[in-house]
Amino acid sequence: MATTFPEVESETMATATQAPTKYVFFFGGGKAEGDGKMKDVLGGKGAGLAEMTNAGLPVPPGFTIQTEACREFMKTGKTSAEIERQMKEALRSLETLQGQKLGGHDNPLLVSVRSGAKFSMPGMMDTILNLGLNDKSVEALATKSNNPRFAYDSYRRLIQMFGNVVLEIPKHAFDEVFDAKKKTKKAKLDTDLDAKTLKEVVAEYKKVVQKHAKREFPQDAVEQLAMARDAVFRSWNNDRAKHYRRMNNIDDMLGTAVNVQAMVFGNLGETSGTGVGFTRNPANGANEFYGEFLMNAQGEDVVAGVRTPVHISELKSVNPEAYEQLRQITTRLEKHYRDIQDFEFTIQEGKLYMLQTRNGKRTGLAAVKIAIDMVSEGLITKEEGFMRVEPNQLYDFLVPRLDEKSTKIEVLTTGLPASPGAAVGQIVFSAEEAVKKAGHGTTKNPVILVRAETTPEDIAGMEVAAGILTSRGGMTSHAAVVTRGMGKCCVAGAGEIEVHEKTKEMKVKGQLFREGDWLSLDGTTGRVIKGKLNTLPASPDDPMLRQLFAWSEPHRTIGVRANADIPRDAIQARAFGAEGIGLCRTEHMFFAEDRINHMRAMILATTEKDRRAALKKLLPMQRADFVGIFRAMDGFPVTIRTLDPPLHEFLPSREELMVQIGVLEATKPKSPKLKELKTLLKRVNDLHELNPMLGHRGCRLGITYPEITEMQARAILEAAVQVSKEGVKVFPEIMIPLTGGLKEMANQGAIVRRVAEEVFAEKEKKVEYLVGTMIELPRAALVADEIAKDAQFFSFGTNDLTQTTFGFSRDDINKFLPAYLSEGILKQDPFAVLDREGVGQLVRMGVEKGRKTNPKLKVGICGEHGGEPSSVEFCFQVGMNYVSCSPFRVLTARLAAAQAAYVKEHSGAEAGRTK
Ligand code: ADP
Ligand code: MG
Ligand code: MG
Repeated sequence: MATTFPEVESETMATATQAPTKYVFFFGGGKAEGDGKMKDVLGGKGAGLAEMTNAGLPVPPGFTIQTEACREFMKTGKTSAEIERQMKEALRSLETLQGQKLGGHDNPLLVSVRSGAKFSMPGMMDTILNLGLNDKSVEALATKSNNPRFAYDSYRRLIQMFGNVVLEIPKHAFDEVFDAKKKTKKAKLDTDLDAKTLKEVVAEYKKVVQKHAKREFPQDAVEQLAMARDAVFRSWNNDRAKHYRRMNNIDDMLGTAVNVQAMVFGNLGETSGTGVGFTRNPANGANEFYGEFLMNAQGEDVVAGVRTPVHISELKSVNPEAYEQLRQITTRLEKHYRDIQDFEFTIQEGKLYMLQTRNGKRTGLAAVKIAIDMVSEGLITKEEGFMRVEPNQLYDFLVPRLDEKSTKIEVLTTGLPASPGAAVGQIVFSAEEAVKKAGHGTTKNPVILVRAETTPEDIAGMEVAAGILTSRGGMTSHAAVVTRGMGKCCVAGAGEIEVHEKTKEMKVKGQLFREGDWLSLDGTTGRVIKGKLNTLPASPDDPMLRQLFAWSEPHRTIGVRANADIPRDAIQARAFGAEGIGLCRTEHMFFAEDRINHMRAMILATTEKDRRAALKKLLPMQRADFVGIFRAMDGFPVTIRTLDPPLHEFLPSREELMVQIGVLEATKPKSPKLKELKTLLKRVNDLHELNPMLGHRGCRLGITYPEITEMQARAILEAAVQVSKEGVKVFPEIMIPLTGGLKEMANQGAIVRRVAEEVFAEKEKKVEYLVGTMIELPRAALVADEIAKDAQFFSFGTNDLTQTTFGFSRDDINKFLPAYLSEGILKQDPFAVLDREGVGQLVRMGVEKGRKTNPKLKVGICGEHGGEPSSVEFCFQVGMNYVSCSPFRVLTARLAAAQAAYVKEHSGAEAGRTK
């Protein structure tokens, strides 16, 4: 029956007029077509403007061209006629509302063209102000405002911004003209230039445009608007924006919206101004009004450092009504959004206008403080409180920070927060000088190493410096990567600083600094501060943290353990709340001075008997290590891995030996040492492998040299029995590395169990223990059901599993990773964030198959991923019992695990909102 009228049906479908997509959303006159929830469509800025308009706040009217238009632009390279039509319609409404006309010759409408994506990307894309001015309308503006200076100031700003953003003319081309003008007029500030001079600037700017862009500055205002709109769309894909998205894991396909908004003017004279602020202090979270403003200024003047802005509290005396209104509005906004607001405003001839509001970015300290305060103010629930804190931000509590209460601080500039923490020291410009001044391993003479960028030759200087400051380079520059590894404060890419390494000087915003001058760095926010501030020590036991965890911990369902090889780390981890050790690597214990020789003797031994003799010497030492760790972890499980790395790692390098042999042959050919070295070299050559990562390591060692596993099992179990006799609650878990099948597991498991029986009989005491394995080869995940017949637990070694699944060597990935990321082939470094799509499948399969054979199988993870929030969430989702990470990431993992559980309890909840 349904097939009777197919043609008719399809015809109806085809002729039915589909409403065209709504591309343009108007706001103004007390109401908006969009609202605050429409961030996907309107972008964050557009949604905020709509919401503020609907709330009746003083927002200059305008319209938002939605993100779909940008996505179409990315596909087709142009803006469709439909979008053009809707835009012109909205423009007419705006003109009617304002009683003005864009490009009009007596009462011109001026607009700003502002980008705004779903997630805020501060300063990553570009804004154009005063659009609509041309040679005619500027005259009209001058007459109407009775302020020619203002009119020409606005015009020169437009040409400069339009020239830079739309016509891609370098900023300095304009700056040169402007600075030269200031010089000849002996003007110190921009505001010192009069109308006549600004008119000259305009004329010269137009020449700059002609020269660089090979075209005139467009006089047609509607053409200006179309060009500016398309430039904003294009700016979505500029390098800065792409880089920012990569760092913050924002989807490249989202696109940006474009906001076209009637201008209000902060540059109309001394009763006008512009400013930015936060409803609370974004650095430490204090509940205080925070921000800066400048009178007689426009747009980015406040943040661009052209003039020094004034603290927002001074607005109270400049314009008390506007100040009060601003406080009221922003307080209302904070209540409305239930989060700290970051806002922008302009005062035009005494009257306040709101230009932007959004949830403010904040440091980890501030995030926790604000969450706790807002819970006690009744603004948010406890759950919202802990869900808002991005788990990685807890790291801020673990590094020292600047004491900002003691002195007034002068922020010179803000660079990239490359490595968190604080550093205060005297400036040096070279690594040698750093070493000379700071001396080795002491902080008696703290220095800040200032470089344009660092290179590997600077390592020695970086090691002794209290902090590093560079003027070039990004979050993955040498300075950034190395300092993060060192856990040392670094501010990178502070582009406003000129570093002159030769003359040992640095200049920033007109101030000169020389070697020996004091500087304070905040690696958590990227601020570079003049002078010598005090620092506050790390505060892992901060009461605020305790409060936060009191709320989050009841939700957490999986355990958090730490990776620790020595008692000191184990104690540290426990202080952070670790519930056991998930990975104790035994090989580190063999490198100590008193042990390495026994280890080498063992490796050099040619018979089992000699090997056993050497191992016998190592036994008491290992046992003592385990005793220390068991005591530190009283009441908690400790997973100890048997020897994993290839044996050559315990011997000197081939090159080193050959040099020593060469020297001895030339100087003391009869020395007995020479013979010894030659034997060593021979053994090193024997052990040499082309692919040690895939070579004779892991359980392959224990299988070829069972006496090694025997000795280690004995050391572990004897230690366990000993401390258990002292009353310590001990739960050793002996872990076999790098198995790929049941037989490997069974082979090593049998050794451990036999030794256990021997030890228990000898000591006449039993302890409970487990034998299990790491799952770190794809094959192990594939046959996990088999392996689980013998293993009592699995621990996913996701470093090796990532290496072997991708076939990437972790140590060499940096040769191609940057290209992979910038080409979008990989979204993230798979060694940092667990690759759910590929490696994750193996993990999930391993857990499921393992539990099928052994429902009681305990499962955890001990790779680097165990402390990374998104990976922790994944581990929770696949049903692991615990995650294990480095001690300093335990807090992060605990919060991430609680958030993951909460998201599952309340589907739709979003974690880490302060990102
Ligand atoms: P960003 O996203 O980089 O903050 P914005 O689009 O917010 O860029 O614009 C930067 C600044 O330009 C704003 O802080 C504001 O001071 C100024 N501005 C933007 N639109 C207007 C307008 N319609 N009237 C006055 N000033 C504006
Ligand atoms: Mg803004
Ligand atoms: Mg491994």
